[in-house]
Amino acid sequence: MTINHSQIGVVGAGTMGAGIAQVSVQAGFETVVYDVSQEFIDKGLGRIRGFIQRSRERGKLDREEEERILARLSGSLKLEDLSGACLVIEAAPEKIELKREIFQKLDFVCDPESLLATNTSSLSVTAIAAATKRPERVLGTHFFNPPPLMALVEVIQGEQTDPVNIQKAVDIVRRLGKTPVRTKDTPGFIVNRIARPFYNEALRILEEGDATVETIDRIMKDAGGFRMGPFELMDLIGIDINFTATESLYQAFFHDPRFRPSPIQHRMFLAGQLGRKTGRGFYNYGSK
Ligand code: NAD
Repeated sequence: MTINHSQIGVVGAGTMGAGIAQVSVQAGFETVVYDVSQEFIDKGLGRIRGFIQRSRERGKLDREEEERILARLSGSLKLEDLSGACLVIEAAPEKIELKREIFQKLDFVCDPESLLATNTSSLSVTAIAAATKRPERVLGTHFFNPPPLMALVEVIQGEQTDPVNIQKAVDIVRRLGKTPVRTKDTPGFIVNRIARPFYNEALRILEEGDATVETIDRIMKDAGGFRMGPFELMDLIGIDINFTATESLYQAFFHDPRFRPSPIQHRMFLAGQLGRKTGRGFYNYGSK
């Protein structure tokens, strides 16, 4: 096996995986996206192709560039097809057992030199790395939603990650055109930890009946200068993703009440009202 320094593997073709794959092909990396069903691959790759095509139609690329970019993109149902990538970024659902299982398999199929990264928002990179025999090569690359538009990437050093590999990941993130920020493997890292009170306090005000969703969002935008209000943002991120992240931080901080999840959000999660992706969250987006 030889490692390809121009190839990136992405595990999961959902919201984040497809976005990361788009960043990667646009930055010149050959990009292989793995998912568990052809339907998910087609959907994820279809989104990327649609975006690139629209960029050409808007005059941002010519047809040749479009073809070159799309030629670098492929999907696969076989994890082995990611084996030669210099970096594999996992963007599967936020479940620790699932991620540990994926990393165990990646460790088995990937070149011993490959770096394995998780896009987890809130789980322990150290616990994921411990499922492999190469924890020194496992780290976090936490992209933000939507990856093509958000510059920041937290590069997370697990307990056993070799700093040399953090530097390699930082260099790749720069090649992707993003801004890397090194963080320790602390619950929620930096951004998600700071963001928790933004969502939680808004949910508490709603729970206590002191203001409506619309009012809170408007205040945060008009007076706070935020681009989106907390409820609009939760709908964009996905209620399931956001709720699970809060729950996981709450546990990681040994039930510190500052991070207690909201019953309103829990009910929406149980009802499958997950925001934009299901057509209904705090706002109504029409049927999906
Ligand atoms: P998503 O549900 O949109 O996508 C997950 C994808 O993983 C799906 O395509 C699914 O088919 C696939 N999948 C399921 N089981 C798999 C398996 N065993 N192997 C490979 N793929 C599998 O989720 P998402 O929003 O893209 O989130 C992915 C990760 O990124 C999570 O860890 C999440 O916490 C993190 N994250 C999400 C956001 C966000 O705003 N959505 C932001 C930053 C980080």
